[in-house]
Amino acid sequence: MYEINIELPEHVDNIIKILEDNGYEAYAVGGCIRDVILGRTPNDWDITTSALPKDVKRLFKRTVDTGIEHGTVTVLINDKSYEVTTYRTDGEYKDSRHPENVEFVKELKEDLLRRDFTINAMAFNYEKGLQDPFGGYEDLKKKVIRCVGNPMERLSEDALRILRAVRFSAQLSFEIDEETENAIRILAPNLSKISAERICTELIKLIVSDHPEYLKKAYELGITKVILPELDIAFKTPQNNKYHIYSVGDHIIKTVQSIKADKVLRLTMLLHDIGKPESRKTDSDGVDHFKGHAEISVEMADAILKRLKMDNDTIRKVKILIKYHDLRFPAEIKNVRRAMNKIGTEMFPDFIKVQTADTLGKGDYGKEKMLEHLERIKELYGDVLKENQCVTLKQLAITGKDVMSLGLKPGPAVGELLNEALNLVIDDPEKNEKQYLLNYILRIIHKKV
Ligand code: ATP
Ligand code: MG
Repeated sequence: MYEINIELPEHVDNIIKILEDNGYEAYAVGGCIRDVILGRTPNDWDITTSALPKDVKRLFKRTVDTGIEHGTVTVLINDKSYEVTTYRTDGEYKDSRHPENVEFVKELKEDLLRRDFTINAMAFNYEKGLQDPFGGYEDLKKKVIRCVGNPMERLSEDALRILRAVRFSAQLSFEIDEETENAIRILAPNLSKISAERICTELIKLIVSDHPEYLKKAYELGITKVILPELDIAFKTPQNNKYHIYSVGDHIIKTVQSIKADKVLRLTMLLHDIGKPESRKTDSDGVDHFKGHAEISVEMADAILKRLKMDNDTIRKVKILIKYHDLRFPAEIKNVRRAMNKIGTEMFPDFIKVQTADTLGKGDYGKEKMLEHLERIKELYGDVLKENQCVTLKQLAITGKDVMSLGLKPGPAVGELLNEALNLVIDDPEKNEKQYLLNYILRIIHKKV
């Protein structure tokens, strides 16, 4: 027995007790046990039980049939939900992704046997203590990701486990066991059989982890070749110029590491230079140029993120940030207002973060200067906000209605005039005054007639 002090949340313990009081076995299982032993906060608490789904539904007031054919019932308590899954074993896998069927079983050990890695195959309740038939606790101490059983078999059953191995190693800063790693190298091509949604979930967890640089490991193991071949090309593309000391791929990784662990920001860095290989031109002095790479990166990011079935809002934001990632302007408040108008006020702080991370991922040439410049831009952005200076049509002192009151009919001309007024005001906030702007517009109308 291990001397491990695991504390279960009250609701989890209650669910387990109710099941036990009714003659069933029940344990907290999987990721939550791994995480509490490591002193991390679990994402969710899953429960495994000998009770059948119909019994679980009978014992708890509020339940949802989440995946009842796989034995999973969600139990709702207050505003929290817990997945309660019947002990099961997976039937034969024929296609590297789905078991043909699942079968409910009597023994906890059989349920733990179907799980992917030893560190994810532990269960606990207060009465029986830690149940760890495959040495998960030892592997936690050794910091190793190891398949339960034979890696070739386990990774062949469900190829997603190949990517999950790297994802967990990035989250926990663990090594992948040698035998498991060898199997990954051989079986990585099977990832092509896995749905984009499942790949996407794991890829995001990997890039927002503490160690997004493990993406390089995914490259070395042949994983990105299948799920993100564009990154492989980036790793093979050098950048011979005074700004860079890394290949495109290594620079990408450095920038991902240099930005906050947020989905949009990390995806932006992952893809901001993905168009560089295609735009690379080497001049007669052997210097590389990447003219127009931001636009190509936007197009490629769009295709990649759609392929991964990423949600539209994320795609939209990432594309804006990639489009402007190389936008340069002098640190003057006027230019900051103009950039805020272009990029969008709400995206502007992220734009600064992206340029900062991009700078941190380059060589030292011009680095300090650029970082100081970005600090100054950040201050100026603060000033624009503080003084509530106008950078959008919404903040303009006149509306379409005001323009039409000058005798204009509804139509595109109204919008164009408003935009002319906005341009004026972005250059000079003092001019954001109703009468002044109406006079200005009148002058334009008269000039045009
Ligand atoms: P997270 O912190 O991301 O939630 P987790 O370990 O809880 O990590 P989940 O994807 O929520 O991972 O899965 C819960 C548990 O189910 C895992 O700990 C593992 O025991 C098992 N599991 C999940 N996916 C697989 C899979 N593809 N193959 C085998 N077992 C799996
Ligand atoms: Mg989980």
